[in-house]
Amino acid sequence: MYLFLSPHLDDAVLSCGGTIHQLTARGETVMVLTTMAGDPPEPLPDTPIIADLHQRWQAGFNPVSARRAEDQRACGLLGAQVLHLDLGDCVYRVAHQAGKTLALYPTEESLWGPVRPDDPAVMSLRSTTIPPASVVVVPLGNRHHVDHRIVRDWGLWLSQQSPALSLRFYEEYPPEIDATMELEQALTYYQDRTMQPDVRPLTEADVAAKLRAVACYESQISTFWASAAEMEVETRASMTAAGDGNPVERFWRMV
Ligand SMILES: [Zn+2]
Repeated sequence: MYLFLSPHLDDAVLSCGGTIHQLTARGETVMVLTTMAGDPPEPLPDTPIIADLHQRWQAGFNPVSARRAEDQRACGLLGAQVLHLDLGDCVYRVAHQAGKTLALYPTEESLWGPVRPDDPAVMSLRSTTIPPASVVVVPLGNRHHVDHRIVRDWGLWLSQQSPALSLRFYEEYPPEIDATMELEQALTYYQDRTMQPDVRPLTEADVAAKLRAVACYESQISTFWASAAEMEVETRASMTAAGDGNPVERFWRMV
């Protein structure tokens, strides 16, 4: 079984949707496990980032239930099973100090800064039992978001616990600003290991299935693109550029 670890309700499909389709089409079992798929706390932390995100997502007080439904549809189209953990997105996570509740990641900048040592997500993931899988595919970390780095590190930790597990890293899509620079930066994290790219050629059926699946994440499209049409054009172009003219998704492995 192939287990794709997705920090948020969209990352694995955005980054690996073509590969997931290819695997299920040839009869492999695939599961997409999204870690930060839990409901927001009540009351919500009163922070600038939450006000901004909720306005952009336009899905009411609890946009996460809408996002879980989008993810079910997207993964269903690709033939993948779905598992949602109940951790909150980093913007919803809090720490309790001296009787006060403090938001751990209150601003846009904090999403790209260090993982807070008191972040409960790290320990919570380590005590989570994953479904039996022979291959675990985790974010490479080129999207430097704090939740992506936490899930990458969980993957590394899982492979230390179970050396028989095959660990693969996927390049996260879309990039924040500059894909090449962000990839170079992400690879420096693994400096004591050699990282080898593992390029997976995709058929037109894989590409078309991925684009249909990504379109299911209606609440997220406006975060990355002006329209669904722009998403299709840019996502297809990105896969084609990565394969020098033929669509691919790129993974990495430690050698
Ligand atoms: Zn994400």
